[in-house]
Amino acid sequence: MPKKETKFDVIISGAGPAGSACATFLARKGIKVLVLDKARFPRDKTCGDAISGKSVSVIRELGLEKEIEKNYHAKIYGVTLSSPNGNMFTVDIPERQGLKSYGYCARREVFDNIVFQTASKEKNVTIMQRTQVTGLRIEGNVVKGITATSLENNEALEFDAKIVVGADGAHSPVASALGVNKVENEHYCTAVRAYYEGIGGLTDKIEIHFIDEVMPGYFWIFPLENGMANVGVGMLFSDLKKRNINLKHAMHNAMHNNALFKKRFANAKQAGEIKGWTLPLGSKRRKLAFNGAVLLGDAGSLIDPFSGEGVGNALTSAKLAAPVIEKALRTNDFSENTFKEYEENVWKELGPELETSYKMQRLGRYKWLLNFTIGKAARKKELRDLIAHSLVQEGAMKNLVSPLGLIRMFFL
Ligand SMILES: Cc1cc2nc3c(=O)[nH]c(=O)nc-3n(C[C@H](O)[C@H](O)[C@H](O)COP(=O)(O)OP(=O)(O)OC[C@H]3O[C@@H](n4cnc5c(N)ncnc54)[C@H](O)[C@@H]3O)c2cc1C
Repeated sequence: MPKKETKFDVIISGAGPAGSACATFLARKGIKVLVLDKARFPRDKTCGDAISGKSVSVIRELGLEKEIEKNYHAKIYGVTLSSPNGNMFTVDIPERQGLKSYGYCARREVFDNIVFQTASKEKNVTIMQRTQVTGLRIEGNVVKGITATSLENNEALEFDAKIVVGADGAHSPVASALGVNKVENEHYCTAVRAYYEGIGGLTDKIEIHFIDEVMPGYFWIFPLENGMANVGVGMLFSDLKKRNINLKHAMHNAMHNNALFKKRFANAKQAGEIKGWTLPLGSKRRKLAFNGAVLLGDAGSLIDPFSGEGVGNALTSAKLAAPVIEKALRTNDFSENTFKEYEENVWKELGPELETSYKMQRLGRYKWLLNFTIGKAARKKELRDLIAHSLVQEGAMKNLVSPLGLIRMFFL
C-alpha cells in the first residue's frame, strides 16, 4: 500500500473470522477494504476449536471447505453429554438429505489463517498486520475513521473511513470507543483450555460434561487431529466470583480426580500452556449499529450463552453486514438508521437461538434437572432423537426448552 493512502471506504479492525470473512464478502462485491490486525497471521486464538455446522455453512459460501479439509482438522459427527451424577449419552448429528452431517474441530491457528489468507488474496483487500487500533476518530456523533499504532515501529497512524467495522474481539477497542463494551458479570464468561495428547477413549464426537467441579459451567474434551484434543472449562464471571473458583485448578481436578476422567487422563500429556480468555455472551443484546460504524462477532457480544460457540455467529454477522455496507456505499448514507437493517437482521437470524440458549444456560444451573434429563436421554432413544434433532434443526431447541417441551421431556 502506498504510504500516503489514508482514506478508505471501509476499514475493518480485526482479521479474525468475523473481520476476514466480512472483508472477503465485501471485496467480492467490488468494495475496497482496509483490514488492520495487531497480530501477525498465523496467530493463535484461545478457543475450544469446535467449528459448528453453522460455521460450516458460511465456510461453504466462502468456498473454504476444501482448504479446511487439506489442513489439520478432525471431523465431528456428534456430541457426548454427561451430568454431575455421571449419567451419559451420545447423539449423532442427524443426517440431512441422506448425507452424514458434521462439523469440524480445527485449531484456530490453522482455521483463522485459512479465513485470513482468503481475504488477503482478494484484490480489493489491503491488509496491515501488527497494527493496533487504539481508538476512533469521531466528529459530532459520527465515526469518521480510526487511530492506530504500528507495532513494528511505534508510528502513530490515522485513517479516514466512511464505515468502520469493529471485528476486534472480546476486548474490542472499537466497541469501547463507542461506549458499549461494559463488562457485566452475568453476561460474560471466562474459559481456559490446553492441548493434550494421549487421552483415552477419544471418538469422533465432541464431549461436554456438566461436572460438580465447574457447576454451573462445563468441562469439554474436543478431539483434534492425530489423537490430540482441546480440553477446557468455562464459567460465568458472576459464578466464578461467587464460588471463588480457580479454573485451572478445577480443570486439573476434573482430569485427575473425577471418576469419569481419571483413567482416561492417566497417560495424557499436556502440549503447551493452559490459556484463558473472555467470552462476551449474546444473553444481553449489544447495540451493533452506529453512525458510520457496525460491530461484528465478539465485538458485538454474539457468543452463544449456553454452548460458548462464537465462531458461527461471528461468521454469520459478517455475512449479514456485507449487503448493508454495500447498500450504505451505494446510497451514500452512513447513518445509524441505515446500519439498523444489519442489527435487525442479526437479531432476526440469531436472536431466537440466543434467547433459547440463555434459557438453557439458566436451566443448566439446576443439577437435578441435568441429572434427570441426561439420565433419561441415556435410557430413552426418543429423547436422544429429540435432542439430536434440536441440535441441528433451527428453532427446534426453542421447543425443547419451552414449558410444553419440558413437560414432554418429563413424560417421554
Ligand atoms: C476458551 C474459549 C473457548 C471457546 N470455544 C469455542 C468453540 O469451541 N467454538 C466456537 O465457535 N467458539 C468458541 N469460543 C468463542 C470464539 O473463540 C469467538 O467467539 C470467536 O473467536 C469470535 O471471532 P471474532 O472474529 O469476532 O473475534 P477474534 O477471533 O477474537 O478475532 C479478533 C481479532 O481482532 C484482533 N484485534 C484485537 N484487538 C485489536 C486491536 N486493538 N487492533 C487491531 N486488531 C485487534 C485480534 O488480534 C484478532 O485477530 C471460545 C472462546 C474462548 C475464550
